Amino acid sequence: MALPELNTARYKVEIPSTGQEVTYRPYLVKEEKILMMAMESSDNKVIMQTTVDIIKSCIFDDIDVDGLTMFDIETLFLALRSKSVGEKIDLNMKCIKCDAKNEVLVDFDAIERPVVNHDEKKIMLTDTVGIVLKYPSVGKNEVESAMDIMISSIDSIFDEENVWPAEQETADSLKKFIDSLNSEQFTKLSEFFNEMPALSTKIEFKCVSCEEDNVHELRGLQSFFT
Ligand SMILES: [Zn+2]
Repeated sequence: MALPELNTARYKVEIPSTGQEVTYRPYLVKEEKILMMAMESSDNKVIMQTTVDIIKSCIFDDIDVDGLTMFDIETLFLALRSKSVGEKIDLNMKCIKCDAKNEVLVDFDAIERPVVNHDEKKIMLTDTVGIVLKYPSVGKNEVESAMDIMISSIDSIFDEENVWPAEQETADSLKKFIDSLNSEQFTKLSEFFNEMPALSTKIEFKCVSCEEDNVHELRGLQSFFT
């Protein structure tokens, strides 16, 4: 006779970049072991691939996880983790003044979810020529140069009469287009990447050793797990 199934809880979470709601289960001991092994490797690529794999096994909906953005992956993983390990994250933070280690508990609910403003993706380069950007998918992060990430983030280029979808252009012609920007236009483009949505939270504590008031801004998944 089959043994009873223990963990059948199901939860819902919204994917920030698309607004789609998906159903997931918490990750289990077998998956936590794999995750801890990945963390111990300290190899960002291994950690990211393991995170993506775990999300794939825990989400029931048929979605393209590799096509999601970094902040989608971070949000999904944090949701999974809160139902698997617990809703509080135990962090060891260094005091800004004396370097002493302080233990800080961060509440899952206190972490701000990435906010996506779809209007910000359209950038005017001149009065008539503009560019529509999209957030790079996880497959495009860290492995390639900043230029490659920029090229893969172009959705389309337009002027008053025409639209050129990036998928119909070669990487070379897109690169030439970016190279032809002046520095003001390039800055506008860079701001999009610098202001990419991310998980974030502000942590405040009084140092246990020197009593200095500390304020730390955490951004991105990795800052929550180091
Ligand atoms: Zn201190």
